[in-house]
Amino acid sequence: MKKLWRKVKRATRRAVRNVAGAVAKVVATVVEDVADVVVHTAKAGWFFAIGQRGRANDHLRKARNAAGKLGVDLGWGTLGAVAIAGISAVEWWQRLLGLQEEPRPLDPIDEIPILRTIFVDALEFEDIRIVEGRLGLLDGGRWPKSIARRAPYTIGNTIYVPGRATTRSDLVHEAVHVWQYQSGGPAYIAQAVRSQNGGDVGAETCTRTKAGFTTDATPTRGYDFDNALRDGRSWEAFNPEQQAAFIEYADCRDPNLFVALGPSLRIPDRPDGEEYLPQFVEAVTSLRAGEGAAWRAK
Ligand SMILES: [Zn+2]
Repeated sequence: MKKLWRKVKRATRRAVRNVAGAVAKVVATVVEDVADVVVHTAKAGWFFAIGQRGRANDHLRKARNAAGKLGVDLGWGTLGAVAIAGISAVEWWQRLLGLQEEPRPLDPIDEIPILRTIFVDALEFEDIRIVEGRLGLLDGGRWPKSIARRAPYTIGNTIYVPGRATTRSDLVHEAVHVWQYQSGGPAYIAQAVRSQNGGDVGAETCTRTKAGFTTDATPTRGYDFDNALRDGRSWEAFNPEQQAAFIEYADCRDPNLFVALGPSLRIPDRPDGEEYLPQFVEAVTSLRAGEGAAWRAK
């Protein structure tokens, strides 16, 4: 009985922390957006009044941008917080009934150093949890194929890996989604689902092998970071899956890219492949500054 009570307490504490964190993030992003709308509208009014039309229009454009962000954070952010609450409730029950594995922190020897090389200190490592193996209802393989597939996914600070242990590429890819949540709030969840069904077919992927890596073009929609690079899009204009796939790809190709920010990154990895180092450096610089979480572009 005592043991069960301890279990209830532990599971409840985690669920409450997850939901409260998500709500706080929605509120923080919405407040920031409202402040931007108010400030830029007021400034536009002022510059119109003193006859500086150019600067007035500049602030009007910024106010319109902020209003767009407000819509995203209020709508998609709230939806994301609801998703976090729903998953937390399922997890609460499943932990008490013993239907899923317990959440675990990142491994300080095998996992944190990999992520630290990429993110430096732009991630709250100690907030991250991984649930791997048996997931119960949170295993996408149990859902209708039209809704979910059996693949790792991230909800807030938690990475779910169904049916197996977490690989390095799982860790790096899903950590980018945690970063999107930590730096931009829960709106990324709906945005990521949306982007999985958009974009072009044919993303370049990289797989680790004993000898190093192999690259391939896979027919997966939405993860087509190479198309985004070719279009000259900046980091903040990538969709959430392109951001995650790009960082996962670079880590697979050569983790030293993140140390030296060079010397070269050719994508696709063919003789006629183009050099994308400048865009890579821009992406990593933004990532480490906590800027440009997909939909929160300025
Ligand atoms: Zn993803």
